[in-house]
Amino acid sequence: MRVRLISSAALLLTLVSTPAALADKDIHSVPTSAVLGQFDREGLPLPPATLPDPGSKAQSPEQDLRQYPKLPPIQGSTATPDASAQPAPTVELWRPDVTGGMERIIFEPAPGVTAGQLADDLKTKVRARPGEGARTTLDVVVGGKPVRRVLGTPLAGVQVDYNQCTYGWAMQTCPISYWANWGAPDPQVGYVDHTGSYWITDQAVYSQNQTVGVDSYYRWGNPGVWNRYVDLWSGNYGATGWIASTGIQYYCSGAGCYGRFKERWDGGAPVIIFNDYYGPSYWAPAPRQGVPCHEMAHTIGLQHSWSSSAPSCIGGNSYNYQYLHADDRTLMGVYTYGTYRYP
Ligand SMILES: [Zn+2]
Repeated sequence: MRVRLISSAALLLTLVSTPAALADKDIHSVPTSAVLGQFDREGLPLPPATLPDPGSKAQSPEQDLRQYPKLPPIQGSTATPDASAQPAPTVELWRPDVTGGMERIIFEPAPGVTAGQLADDLKTKVRARPGEGARTTLDVVVGGKPVRRVLGTPLAGVQVDYNQCTYGWAMQTCPISYWANWGAPDPQVGYVDHTGSYWITDQAVYSQNQTVGVDSYYRWGNPGVWNRYVDLWSGNYGATGWIASTGIQYYCSGAGCYGRFKERWDGGAPVIIFNDYYGPSYWAPAPRQGVPCHEMAHTIGLQHSWSSSAPSCIGGNSYNYQYLHADDRTLMGVYTYGTYRYP
């Protein structure tokens, strides 16, 4: 089974940014959570100092195979992406991590905020660590490619080539991002939840586990004996312009710093942070599961899929879908985790 390549010409993207203050777009005025988020010296979000009330999900099991059984590896899709469609832009910060790898932090624009506006705003708040400015970049990213750089060496002109690493509507990082198997039939990815009851993270984990080729597990509060897991946090970070941020690390080699996700025992610390500011009173209920589904999909290697019209939680920045699309699962299950194993 090979990944079906999409036959469309490479597109030269020119993103026009409209520098407008986030406050102009921000119609929200009442903080939704008393649990306040905090920021580090580089201006990046840290977990809140106090934990929100998780509600009943604190008792949720690790998996729910009855309600969310594993799905077939190939779920035939005949979807042909619209040639004019584009994956939803996002904003990504790349910087050296403290143990010789590279850290990638994805910021998801909040409703009413464009990726360009978010990038311009983050530029005023985010700083490189001392001595690491040359290797720290902040970009507007489309289809996995930086198209406009606001921190770091300017881009000369970017070809966004969509003829790669796709299946139907689905798109992954290219080269692919993946977790190592470490002897297991599938990579085991745990999600240790510290978020408030608003975020339906448990169901998002269970539905991600329907993907053949990667096994997802849920726990609230404590990783226990797990040695690979992604921390999930939520707090009120204010009108940041982002609804969530996802940080994940890569090993570096002569070939670059993109591919295998860095393990926790090597200094990897994958973390998803949800901003409660854009929570319950801000928009419709659907994103309660759609946003967690979206961010978790990034942590197994998926990029925003081809078109925001595809019914997938990773399909764009609307977050109105609670589940991955069949093409996303096929891409992960058959290609990424079905054919690529380490070790
Ligand atoms: Zn995203």
